Amino acid sequence: MCGIVGYIGQQEAYPILIKGLHRLEYRGYDSAGVAIINPDDRLNIYKHTGKVAELETFCEAKDIAGTVGIAHTRWATHGEPSDINAHPHYSTNGKIAIVHNGTIENYNVLKQALIQHGCEFVSQTDTEVVVKLIEYIQTSNNCTLLDAVREALSQVVGAYAIAVIDSDHPDTVIAARKSSPLVIGIGDGETFIASDASPIIDYTNRVVYLRDNEIAIISRNEPLKVITTDNKESKIDIQTLRMSVSQLEKGGYPHFMLKEIFEQTETIFDCVRGRVVNDTIKLSGVSDHPDRFINAGRIIIVACGTSWHAGLIGARLIENFARIPTRVEYASEFRYANPVINSDDVVIAISQSGETADTLAAIKLAKERGAFVYGVCNVVGSSIARETDTGTYIHVGPEIGVASTKAFTGQVTVLAMLALAIAQLKGTASRSQVAEVARSIQKLPELIKETLLLNPQIEKLSSTYTYVHNFLYLGRGYNYPNALEGALKLKEISYIHAEGYPAAEMKHGPIALIDKEMPTVVIAPDDDLHEKVISNIQQVKARGGSVIAIVTRGDTTIPKIADHVLEIPPVPEALSPIIAAIPLQLLAYHIAIMKGCNVDMPRNLAKSVTVE
Ligand code: GLU
Repeated sequence: MCGIVGYIGQQEAYPILIKGLHRLEYRGYDSAGVAIINPDDRLNIYKHTGKVAELETFCEAKDIAGTVGIAHTRWATHGEPSDINAHPHYSTNGKIAIVHNGTIENYNVLKQALIQHGCEFVSQTDTEVVVKLIEYIQTSNNCTLLDAVREALSQVVGAYAIAVIDSDHPDTVIAARKSSPLVIGIGDGETFIASDASPIIDYTNRVVYLRDNEIAIISRNEPLKVITTDNKESKIDIQTLRMSVSQLEKGGYPHFMLKEIFEQTETIFDCVRGRVVNDTIKLSGVSDHPDRFINAGRIIIVACGTSWHAGLIGARLIENFARIPTRVEYASEFRYANPVINSDDVVIAISQSGETADTLAAIKLAKERGAFVYGVCNVVGSSIARETDTGTYIHVGPEIGVASTKAFTGQVTVLAMLALAIAQLKGTASRSQVAEVARSIQKLPELIKETLLLNPQIEKLSSTYTYVHNFLYLGRGYNYPNALEGALKLKEISYIHAEGYPAAEMKHGPIALIDKEMPTVVIAPDDDLHEKVISNIQQVKARGGSVIAIVTRGDTTIPKIADHVLEIPPVPEALSPIIAAIPLQLLAYHIAIMKGCNVDMPRNLAKSVTVE
């Protein structure tokens, strides 16, 4: 959450910073701001509540000249979204500016101490404390900006990625990170800083991922220097970006979310590519560590949000095929639960961004306690990808829509391959069982393409349900987590209250809510529990509720009972959540659009949750 951009070089900084902020807007859009040192070494700061476009309007006719600057798009944690609380924050003398992603846990203690020393605060943010602390140290110790930043960071408890500029030193930007991401782009005579690589890719593909407790000293016309917070020189590892600008654009679609839903034909192809060979699964994360999986006493999946739903499906897949007891934990609960973790446990961390703060903390705990940690991430080089012992990238390309779609289907696909890979290794599934599912995994892109043909039908049916206040989603087996995910999608982007339940649980409570005002979405593909789900649909109908059913093509029973039927192609039960997810995504999308909601930037939300 919160996006940071920085630039130093020969070009004008402002257009680069603004373009970068637009790319990072998925991370937060409460307010935005820029700080630029102009050619007369004056620090100009402009910030405004709302989206980056509003900042741009605000900056029209302002002095935006300068070749060094930092910028920020905010997702507020401390202090309401307002002009004052927007970043950059600045020192009392108006010379030092900071942008920050993360949370400073001891900000109040530090703030009170600074107030005792006569320091005054204008915002409610934790971030302002950091810049005022840097200034206080710089003046009282009469030290360099770098030493002041280093000392300030040693007093700070919490998570941060920061970038700092000082108009007394207009040729330097200082950046640092701990638990929040920061990427440095090395250009020709120019350097870029950003929360992820998307603002950098237009200018250079040479990047350095800053590690925890590192400080980068980025000076004009000098090579990048990186030190640790305890003042040791760090090795600089320059990596090559494999990302294209077209992946970051809407490509003719009205919204990133719709583009990402439609892209799933290709993203699942990329996710599977090279991993299904001769009807077997090849995952190096498993084949390189056979003992860890053969001897695993237990698998614990840690994740948040949509990734947690994918984890629930993954647990079922792993137990079914690999016969290893598997449980799924919310990372935020797990990390504080003092969990029993054994050295023969495998902990699987699922996170699209690979930066989710709670998941990162959960895997650090698991590692400390001796578990083997496996990452399932999308963003290459992300913190979770680096902290885990091994893992599998989902390779679905940048996901920009705040509501996750293609990452979810990529995660479930990887978890299905993981379950089969472990099963092959342990011999818990026969060759023919593995081969059957493996062949269907290869067919997923084709099946997704067919499923996407439902789009006009779903768009039409959405108009019937635009103004309802509540929705129920039901599913069983592999599709119970899909019911949770379908409900989450609708809540996130249309602000309609929705709940997901295992279909049979309905009679233990939620059935009381059913009336003609509350529609129920039932995920009812042709599987072992099909007959049971038909009974659940009957129960809803008997109480006057309307039913939208997702069924396998050729179903002859449900179309006679349900109000609307969405047919998906036949697919093995274990892979059905991947296909059934598509109509759920489209339904949420169209209802939200008809309600006039901003589907790519839903209120209060942001992507890449780098705060607790
Ligand atoms: N804590 C800072 C603020 O509230 C940054 C928040 C974030 O990174 O999400 O402004």
